[in-house]
Amino acid sequence: MSGDASEFDVIVVGAGVAGLAAARTLVDERSAKVVVLEARDRVGGRVFTDTLPDETWVDLGGQWLGVEQHRLSAWLERYKIPTYKTYTAGENLLLWKGARTRYRGTIPKLPLMALLGVGWAQLRLDRMAKKVPLDAPWTAKDARAWDSVSFGQWMRDNVGNDVARRLLELGMDTVFAENADRYSLLYALFYIHSGKGTDILLGSEGGAQDTRIDGGMQRLATAMANGLDVRTSHPVSRVRWERDRVVVECTDTSERRAFVARRVIVATPPPLTNEIVFEPALPQGRAALQSEMPMGAAGKCIAVYDAPFWRDEGLSGQCVSDEGPCHVTFDSSGPSGRPGVLMGFLEGDEARAMGKLPDAERRETVLRCFARYFGERARSPRLYVDKLWEKDPWARGCYGAFFPPGLLVKHGALLREPVGPIHWAGTETATVWSGYIDGALSSGERAARELSL
Ligand SMILES: Cc1cc2nc3c(=O)[nH]c(=O)nc-3n(C[C@H](O)[C@H](O)[C@H](O)COP(=O)(O)OP(=O)(O)OC[C@H]3O[C@@H](n4cnc5c(N)ncnc54)[C@H](O)[C@@H]3O)c2cc1C
Repeated sequence: MSGDASEFDVIVVGAGVAGLAAARTLVDERSAKVVVLEARDRVGGRVFTDTLPDETWVDLGGQWLGVEQHRLSAWLERYKIPTYKTYTAGENLLLWKGARTRYRGTIPKLPLMALLGVGWAQLRLDRMAKKVPLDAPWTAKDARAWDSVSFGQWMRDNVGNDVARRLLELGMDTVFAENADRYSLLYALFYIHSGKGTDILLGSEGGAQDTRIDGGMQRLATAMANGLDVRTSHPVSRVRWERDRVVVECTDTSERRAFVARRVIVATPPPLTNEIVFEPALPQGRAALQSEMPMGAAGKCIAVYDAPFWRDEGLSGQCVSDEGPCHVTFDSSGPSGRPGVLMGFLEGDEARAMGKLPDAERRETVLRCFARYFGERARSPRLYVDKLWEKDPWARGCYGAFFPPGLLVKHGALLREPVGPIHWAGTETATVWSGYIDGALSSGERAARELSL
């Protein structure tokens, strides 16, 4: 077995923004000797900016800075990374039961009863969400009842108007990247509270989709990694631990490498943490937690045009449709608006099904969908690219791992609980903006500050 003969204070597993924030904080604030072990050949994890053959950059992973995302704002400011507003000028589109209407803001033009139904449901959800303590959702007064039903069931039981319920489901599918029958109401309420309420979660201007990064979010991960000891192409397969010592083993096809430290911060998505062998084994509850938290599924489909032609027609590029596969689209162009970039989301089971299609067929299906929304010109982009995250072996899905009914009350308390010298980070462990880049960053900072050296 080869490795690094020197001993480290801390080994960080995973160079997503959580792991990078942990390493930076340890180095900056505690002068610790840190190594970051990353399975992929790049840093950033679920943040990934790709450069296309015509030099257009596109964010295939996390892309938005939302309002009230103070940790992400601070890290962007630290590296002086420029931002710009998401393009929202003009009218949005709603395609509903074959009819195409234009509207401004977050609320589409629908029958009054449907709009009232959505508004009432949001009000109730926001009120209930505020009763869920962010650092301990399982202690909410109604935690057991709320964790025993799925969010989908709650919507069926409480939103009587069919159009209102469908619209809410579509919005929530985009927020959670998963069918609402799979996760609990308690988890949904925690997430809503963590993300500052339904209006902010769903909103562009003044919401979670408010601002973009000029050049793409990858710039942040790259800046954070600069100067750190990051070893890419180092997939961790085993963590052997005792009270004050850990041996972390990486296996690739050719050799096994070992690193030694006093502490380890594991900053990988729960289903991937579950594949690392821990010796001695993790306590039963902790092991159950990470084995029972599945990832959501989302894909991003991106078409690049010479210009954002929809803007000339007074359209923002944002569309909501009851017919898929991309139920929601955004104008994802850079700050200059040249070239024009249209991005459509695939969510949940539709993302999984689209991932099984041959590439050419998926492209054709998505472009047909864009053409239904924005006209025939949308069918012929100069470039098309997509990424289905559930097919990514080091993410297994996105935006994050979720809690099926029953799990949060049963094992949620173990999410951040250290096990011997092992500490946990990653967006799933965040209390504020859990599931988002902001939450990932704060989770890394928290883990770096909580461990004793
Ligand atoms: C399509 C998409 C759109 C999104 N949109 C937004 C958005 O607009 N705004 C927002 O705030 N958030 C968004 N998110 C969510 C956001 O990207 C994530 O919450 C955040 O990046 C998670 O960071 P992390 O460090 O916790 O995890 P990750 O980024 O998953 O990092 C974990 C790292 O661990 C590595 N790893 C895994 N297993 C091992 C192993 N065994 N050994 C070594 N390394 C390992 C992985 O390769 C990865 O690099 C989006 C995500 C996706 C995919």
